[in-house]
Amino acid sequence: MARKSIRFLRGKSEDGIVRLYIERGSLLYDNNGDRLHFRIYRKKEDAFEQGNDYYEYFDSIDFKDAELIYDGPLDKEESYYFIYTDRNVKPLDTYAYWVAYKDDTIPAGPVGITVRHPDVWWTFERINQEMEKIHSLYRGPKSLEPYGYSTRKKVLKGLVLGNKERCIALIGAVHAGESGPELFLRAAEYIVKNRPDLLEKTGLAILPSVNADCREDMATGTPQYLRCNPNGVDLNRNFDANWDTVDLMYGLNTTIHGSITYRGPFPESEDETKAVVNFLHKVRPRAVFCGHCLSSICGDCFLTSKDSANDTAYKDECMKQVTAYSAGFRDVEKEGTLLRYGTTAGSVPAYVYKKFGIPAFDMEYRTVKDDKKERACVIGKTTPELLNEYTEYHTKGIMNVMEVL
Ligand SMILES: [Zn+2]
Repeated sequence: MARKSIRFLRGKSEDGIVRLYIERGSLLYDNNGDRLHFRIYRKKEDAFEQGNDYYEYFDSIDFKDAELIYDGPLDKEESYYFIYTDRNVKPLDTYAYWVAYKDDTIPAGPVGITVRHPDVWWTFERINQEMEKIHSLYRGPKSLEPYGYSTRKKVLKGLVLGNKERCIALIGAVHAGESGPELFLRAAEYIVKNRPDLLEKTGLAILPSVNADCREDMATGTPQYLRCNPNGVDLNRNFDANWDTVDLMYGLNTTIHGSITYRGPFPESEDETKAVVNFLHKVRPRAVFCGHCLSSICGDCFLTSKDSANDTAYKDECMKQVTAYSAGFRDVEKEGTLLRYGTTAGSVPAYVYKKFGIPAFDMEYRTVKDDKKERACVIGKTTPELLNEYTEYHTKGIMNVMEVL
């Protein structure tokens, strides 16, 4: 295979457009020009499904099947890379890109990019802006403070509103490609604007995006579902709760680095895990709800610690919260609730049960009205409309829990 002129090709989806960041390889080190001639190829990948397809999907695609979308000069930017901006893309679509320097016969690539809808996948910056907005809107007792760091040293801030002696914790994006910031912060904003009286009785403590680094990668265009943190650790297996127990769920192995349920080298090895532990010990909630499922959506399927299966007093306490939350989604008397002993060793609910004995849940998928439409989230096709619908369910559910607590 011929050596390529381009050392590294990265792509990002930002504000609904795609930018390719092209860096010089060793063949171009002697060319110090600020303007070089590139060819850009693109292929739309309608068959790509997030959650079913990973990096390997892009391995087998040939640039010869792609369209040449640009053949011309690009300028060097920020004294480093050459940037190609593609505005002719649509949110939710996935593309493969290749880039060649003028003399190259074989281009570098492909790099896969899914164009994220900016309202469905909030960037880290947007999450912080939204928290600041809600914080300044609320007139009662409140705090917005750091609880720790991500692996890449993003400051992980949590928002506490209202009665901090009796509050509910809402924890988002422990798994990067799942749910949290958009649902929980939009629910909090609604409550602050419309039912601030509820916060006087029961406060809200929100840590919206735990796995902030990899969620940012997904928000900015990584097509495949990311679960672990940048160290390859599944944070929901890293907590100090029966951490030694090996789990083989999904045909994976929690002891193997590279498995997407890898538990980490030792309990609480990860910065994000430490931030959650610090948050929980500082806010001392009465119940904990964690957003899972996929692509910014989760439903009223509640999983709690497997270790609690024989604890009937705990189950009664859980059922109260689950019934109240679910009533935001459906007629519970007719359709029933869904509580399962489903969370494994090292998970947040297992940790919370062990340390505090309070109701703690991971929330997963459950159809509300239209299975086909709602399941779109599972393959990464969440639309702003679907997110709005689910925000309403969660807002009602959270308000119900605030009332019964
Ligand atoms: Zn999850």
